[in-house]
Amino acid sequence: MTQNLIDGFLNFRKQAYDSPHGTMRALMKLGQSPDYFIISCIDSRGNPGNVFQSQPGTFFSHKAMGAIVRPYKKGTALAAALQFALKYNKVKHIIILGHTGCGAVKALIDNIPDEDIASFVDVARSALNTAKELASAEETHDDLYRHAEEQIVLQSAENLRGYPSVQCALDEKRITIKPWLFDMHEGDLLEYNPDLAQFISLIHTAPTEKRVHA
Ligand SMILES: [Zn+2]
Repeated sequence: MTQNLIDGFLNFRKQAYDSPHGTMRALMKLGQSPDYFIISCIDSRGNPGNVFQSQPGTFFSHKAMGAIVRPYKKGTALAAALQFALKYNKVKHIIILGHTGCGAVKALIDNIPDEDIASFVDVARSALNTAKELASAEETHDDLYRHAEEQIVLQSAENLRGYPSVQCALDEKRITIKPWLFDMHEGDLLEYNPDLAQFISLIHTAPTEKRVHA
């Protein structure tokens, strides 16, 4: 039943431990020093390890539905993880990796009647309200999804600034916060550009066309 995972691990072990280019033994000896802290959705198609084809030791990872960052509260998993990564490991960039086709955004828009999910995603309702204001009359329901996905990433970035460890690192000018969106439909990666007030592809030079959800 879990053979595909075990086969994957054997392949990983071959590359990371047994190959001359394997980094795990050195990482275990010298310790880790990742540059990135990536907050991503739990979606099985958007795992940062796959998406960024990264080596072990590249980033810390935190997952939550929709990559939603709730306002700071002492004692949460995210608050502890950020403190560990920023105070003791000197991470340089925090990436919030939202994505298109996100089930958490759909749950919010559709007002899913599930208390555990609804009570979590509801923290992003003000982002959805902003998305509704931005969606023009000519735009489709799919466009509202896209606006919502983008606004939730931006609201999460804003909420992140309320975490003491993040505030401290920002004051000391040793981190950046990057609101990113993985367009799963098109295979694109975008970053919010505050000067242009829109998400711009990181892999093309020209601004991306509007995507239509499948
Ligand atoms: Zn998602």
